[in-house]
Amino acid sequence: MRTLVVDHPLVAHKLTTLRDRRTDSPTFRRLTDELVTLLAYEATRQVRTSAVTVQTPVAQATGVRLARPVPLVVPVLRAGLGMLDGMTRLLPTAEVGFLGMVRDEGTLLATTYATRLPGDLTGREIFVLDPMLATGGTLAAAVTLLGGRGAATVTALCLLAAPEGLAAMSTAFPPDEALEVTVVTAAVDERLDQRGYILPGLGDAGDRLYGVI
Ligand code: URA
Repeated sequence: MRTLVVDHPLVAHKLTTLRDRRTDSPTFRRLTDELVTLLAYEATRQVRTSAVTVQTPVAQATGVRLARPVPLVVPVLRAGLGMLDGMTRLLPTAEVGFLGMVRDEGTLLATTYATRLPGDLTGREIFVLDPMLATGGTLAAAVTLLGGRGAATVTALCLLAAPEGLAAMSTAFPPDEALEVTVVTAAVDERLDQRGYILPGLGDAGDRLYGVI
């Protein structure tokens, strides 16, 4: 597994405001959206393209288009939904699938309660949206499911990652020619607390986006 920490002053600025407990939900949603677009720019650096020729008003030019099949973007519900618009802004032709996963706050284990994905993902490039890579349980389960359907590359976009989550992902996904896994994040924080929350983190991303329900 490869980790890419996006080191950019605008990313750090927006992340700092997200962390601030005084930031209200509308501002949190807007900043998440903007931050994801910046992460998406880096996360799509290796996206597959195919060569095309176009006619400009004065001559012929060679260029590229996104290769087919188009990438698949998969937000992990609930909090990953807050990252969807920021991602599809850069990849408007991508298909979107959904994965509903919930973490048991006692065992910290993830269970899947909803899947809306193509049955066959052979050779597909997938972008998973999950804001908090904490223990790694949810993301590892999501990547395992996608890899089991044949995905060729899975790139996870996370606002924040904990060292424990990155270590768990590296163990779960050693270098493998059939499935290339990358985690793109705005920062790697210090550690997890005893409840599995990232420190200093930003709290519960779903609650900060959508309120405590
Ligand atoms: N999920 C969150 O929303 N926040 C954390 O800190 C960890 C898991």
